[in-house]
Amino acid sequence: MTCEHVTASLHDFVAHTLSPEESASVVEHISHCPSCARMAGEYELIVRAAQTLTEIWQNDRFTVATLSVAVRAIRTLVAAGTLPSH
Ligand SMILES: [Zn+2]
Repeated sequence: MTCEHVTASLHDFVAHTLSPEESASVVEHISHCPSCARMAGEYELIVRAAQTLTEIWQNDRFTVATLSVAVRAIRTLVAAGTLPSH
């Protein structure tokens, strides 16, 4: 699997919609390719932040406290340079 192929598959990889064989190829590539590993890590953070927000909005017990957790998660991503700060 090439870097281009891994990049194209990352979204499906973090969403767990790849076949087990494709998933294994991505894992295999990431294990020896630092640049793809970094991208996969960032992708996973963004997907997790998005899932957190979705869960908060679907939650009847929505509170300011849960929102502040999400805001803090996004600030962490921005501070890490994962998201643009403007
Ligand atoms: Zn790669």
